[in-house]
Amino acid sequence: MKKALVIAPNCIGDALMAQPLFALLKARHPRLVIDALAPKGVAPVLARMPEIGRVFPSDLAHGKLQLSARLMFAQQLKNEGYDLGYVLPNSLKAALIPWLAGIPLRVGYRGEARFGMLNVRHANPPRDQRPPMAEHYARLALKPGARLPEDLPEPRLRVDPARVAATAERFGLAPHARVIAFCPGAESGPARRWPAGHFARLAQMLRRSYPYAQMIALGSAKDAEIATEIASEAPFVRNLCGQTSLDDAVDLLALSEAAVCNDSGLMHVTAALNRPQVAVYGSSDPRHAPPLSQAASIMWLQLECSPCFKRECPLGHLRCLKEIEPEMVFVELRKLLHRP
Ligand code: SF4
Repeated sequence: MKKALVIAPNCIGDALMAQPLFALLKARHPRLVIDALAPKGVAPVLARMPEIGRVFPSDLAHGKLQLSARLMFAQQLKNEGYDLGYVLPNSLKAALIPWLAGIPLRVGYRGEARFGMLNVRHANPPRDQRPPMAEHYARLALKPGARLPEDLPEPRLRVDPARVAATAERFGLAPHARVIAFCPGAESGPARRWPAGHFARLAQMLRRSYPYAQMIALGSAKDAEIATEIASEAPFVRNLCGQTSLDDAVDLLALSEAAVCNDSGLMHVTAALNRPQVAVYGSSDPRHAPPLSQAASIMWLQLECSPCFKRECPLGHLRCLKEIEPEMVFVELRKLLHRP
């Protein structure tokens, strides 16, 4: 029985985009054990993937070398007897641990002068010529240059109904509550955040049409301010940003009848739970990292200036998001809510 160690991406969305790689590896080598080393903020998502065995959460900070911590991890992993290492981030730092741990086959994309550290190297296309992220990662399951199968599996997370019910109860939601979730944050900056006022107007429309629905805002503590702004105009929206763990947020999204999300980690989580959602895109590009679910509806205006991939609008008007009117999202959401 062979064992593989995955060095996971640094953000939730990318970790989910990597799940088709794990599924492909399992389909080709059913007895392969796949473990993952992942940042603490990403580890809970990997722990819910059926393909993944053990998850080693790490405190390794993005962008920092932390050589002694990496040496310690490598020493610990040496004893696990891994045959293969899949290095998903492009950095040299990410390739260090499998190399220091003496894993014989180390697979990844070329980049940052890590030639010696990887010995199965795939050509890394320039950013603007890369296939969608899920395909990009999935190619690592094959020999360099080989063709991917046509239909890649979509990411899917495990959900425990008893745990979902317990989480709902802890947050004062009835187990059969009809919940609509808003995920108003986006780590990558304001140019990916639909305005708080738009969320609030949408909430008011939903309130009129679905008075029984319980609306909640989910996200990290960094998103609490935006959610407070939403709740100031729509006080019936419960602001749970910063009050849930990532696992709690996954449970509450699993319970939700529908969600409205910015291009963010929670958008990819909602897709991996196959919950209906409207995914709102601003400066980014849904062709690059779309929500991988048939239950998702994408709102993207594809203006002449987009995608610019900037954190803040370089033109100062943020038309790509402001011109997605709440009425437009409401119409999409209503279609999802009425779908059989
Ligand atoms: S330049 Fe265009 S795509 Fe970029 S943030 Fe501004 S409006 Fe959006």
